[in-house]
Amino acid sequence: MPIACSGWALHAPAPRHAALEQDVETDVAVIGAGLAGSSLALHLQKLGINVALIEARQPADGASGRNAGHVQPFLDKLQALKSWPGGGQPFVEYFVQQRNIVYEMCSRYGIDGDAHPGGMVEVAARPVAALQAKAREWAGRGYAVAEVGRESLQELLGTSRYGYGLHWQEGGSVNPFMFTSGMVRVAQMLGAQVYGDSPVLDCRREGERWRAVTARGSVRAHRVVICTNAHAGNPFFPELGRTQYPLVACALATKPLPQSVLDSLNPARVALTQVPTGLYPMVVDGRRRLVTATIPHVGREDDARVYFDYFRSYLHKTFPQTRELNIELESYWTGYTSSSSQAYHEDYAKIYEVADGVTALMNLGTWGNVMGPLLGRHLAQVMASERWQDLLLPLEKPREVANPQWFGFKIRRIMVPMARIADRLNLA
Ligand SMILES: Cc1cc2nc3c(=O)[nH]c(=O)nc-3n(C[C@H](O)[C@H](O)[C@H](O)COP(=O)(O)OP(=O)(O)OC[C@H]3O[C@@H](n4cnc5c(N)ncnc54)[C@H](O)[C@@H]3O)c2cc1C
Repeated sequence: MPIACSGWALHAPAPRHAALEQDVETDVAVIGAGLAGSSLALHLQKLGINVALIEARQPADGASGRNAGHVQPFLDKLQALKSWPGGGQPFVEYFVQQRNIVYEMCSRYGIDGDAHPGGMVEVAARPVAALQAKAREWAGRGYAVAEVGRESLQELLGTSRYGYGLHWQEGGSVNPFMFTSGMVRVAQMLGAQVYGDSPVLDCRREGERWRAVTARGSVRAHRVVICTNAHAGNPFFPELGRTQYPLVACALATKPLPQSVLDSLNPARVALTQVPTGLYPMVVDGRRRLVTATIPHVGREDDARVYFDYFRSYLHKTFPQTRELNIELESYWTGYTSSSSQAYHEDYAKIYEVADGVTALMNLGTWGNVMGPLLGRHLAQVMASERWQDLLLPLEKPREVANPQWFGFKIRRIMVPMARIADRLNLA
């Protein structure tokens, strides 16, 4: 689907970047202008390293302009990090330090990302041991997180449906399209060359340097960083496309709701997600719209009506105050996530050493809004200092994942349909 379908892009169209039509030279060529590539370009430029950012379409045209807008300030399954440098502790500490990066960058660089640090709520029908343990874990790291019951949730969200939840006072929401475009604008102001409509077709070594080649031009650079996420099915370094579990997701935005309704439905604009399956994650954006995302049925990705009807039924059931309201669909769009792991919330990003001088930062999974800017910043710091031993993630060789088709099948044909049934029967 064209990016114009994304409700986030509707909010504030971004300037178009012209195609690369000549041969240019720079220090680092960054391929792909999503959250990862844009942050990397901005931070490299800030550290005095010149960048050419090359995007196949326009910045934020991939998952970064299409996501559900949640800014999650915590990590889920920490045991998945055990094999990382220092048993994952240095990464967790950096993450904790940088967890507000979205809001910090918006404020530091004057990025208008409709970023709202209203906090997050994870809700469940009844107390969940994993959530209780998570609250203890992150409270121990200094987070303002509280276990809450039905009454507090009613006050916070205007619904009595949920008996238990975690209220995180940090994190919240962002318009990821505006945030990503904003990072690109800042990178450009700092001196980065930015090219749109320029798919990289080849990436070849030339002596000590690399040349990234597009249809009508090329970038010659000391280093290349590939930030192409689920769009990794490229002719150059095709092994990257086999390192991930790509999954199609869809999202939608309602038309703006009256303020009087929002005053009783989530007045603090916290980002909401349900446990265990998060069928209807929801944020309220700065235009008073509700935005949600889900996984579409196989073969029915384009059928906006189906997912809007699901969402409206959820709203009617969960927020009775919406039953008399004429809620209308404003935008519907699809996008691709790509994960490095089949296990939910173990889908940590990867940094690959693809060749000498070529690195890839990708497979950001379902947490790109924080991971993209954060890892872009970290990788820039490592590259600038040339201290690769300081990398907080393992520097891996691309490795093929097992059974990628099974992943999509499992989620789209088994897990999500079962979760919908459980939701309908009030079992979750
Ligand atoms: C529906 C949906 C909901 C989501 N919800 C959330 C959420 O609420 N919170 C959250 O944190 N994360 C969420 N995510 C995940 C998040 O959006 C991603 O993790 C993140 O956007 C990935 O960023 P990226 O920069 O790695 O990739 P992308 O944004 O996909 O960028 C990759 C870019 O590379 C470009 N490219 C590819 N090949 C080439 C080439 N040959 N030459 C030049 N350019 C190329 C592509 O055009 C694209 O623009 C969601 C994702 C989806 C799809």
